[in-house]
Amino acid sequence: MAPFAPRLDIRQFYDHFDAPVTAFDCGEKCAPHNPNGKPFCCDICHAVPVAYRQEWDYLQGRTDLWHEWRGDECAGDPSDPAELREQTPEHMLLLACLGPAHCQRAYRASSCRQFPFLPYITADDRFLGLVYEWDFEPLCWVISHLESVTEAYRREFVATYDVILAQWPDEYESYAAASEEMRAHFAAQRRRIPLLHRRGGFYLLSPRSERLERVPPQRLPRFGPYHTED
Ligand code: SF4
Ligand code: SF4
Repeated sequence: MAPFAPRLDIRQFYDHFDAPVTAFDCGEKCAPHNPNGKPFCCDICHAVPVAYRQEWDYLQGRTDLWHEWRGDECAGDPSDPAELREQTPEHMLLLACLGPAHCQRAYRASSCRQFPFLPYITADDRFLGLVYEWDFEPLCWVISHLESVTEAYRREFVATYDVILAQWPDEYESYAAASEEMRAHFAAQRRRIPLLHRRGGFYLLSPRSERLERVPPQRLPRFGPYHTED
């Protein structure tokens, strides 16, 4: 039997999760650090977009922006496409787009809207706020400038995942597992997890006790080429 998935109104889902992460085009901040000049999150060699199967049903009849990911889109990538397919939950599909020069904002997939964040779920089952995809620390400018995330984006993110997590057990489990993995990763590195709280403010969360310390954004770490910039 196919796992349960709530029926989403994809247009409404997109329209309610549409605020840009920053008030300006953050792609202009990271793209100069990518040799091919593309923002990292729109470069298939760094990030393969993923969408709910329901999104694909909606998108494929309306736009030529997307195709199903074949695994050969990043020339010279030695990784095995089967491995990524295997890691992708059954209710999701890997996609590839025409690239940032041809982006159609209205038809961005959920992973484009979400990047670089995921909902953080505590060990005692609370959706506390936004944490970032830690693999992208040295690449994504926003991760080094969390103070630039707009309140509108944070609000829409929280409202979107309040609905998704409440309705969709598989999604809840997948983000709970990702949060657990994040705690293990940061604990091994003896670091605290930067978190944008759902009620506002910036925090550092201890990965073992999940104790929170509210901090001014200037105290949050910076990475890679963004470490030294003003
Ligand atoms: S979200 Fe990060 S990776 Fe994507 S365009 Fe903005 S700074 Fe670049
Ligand atoms: S659809 Fe647009 S935002 Fe999404 S990956 Fe492609 S270029 Fe980037």
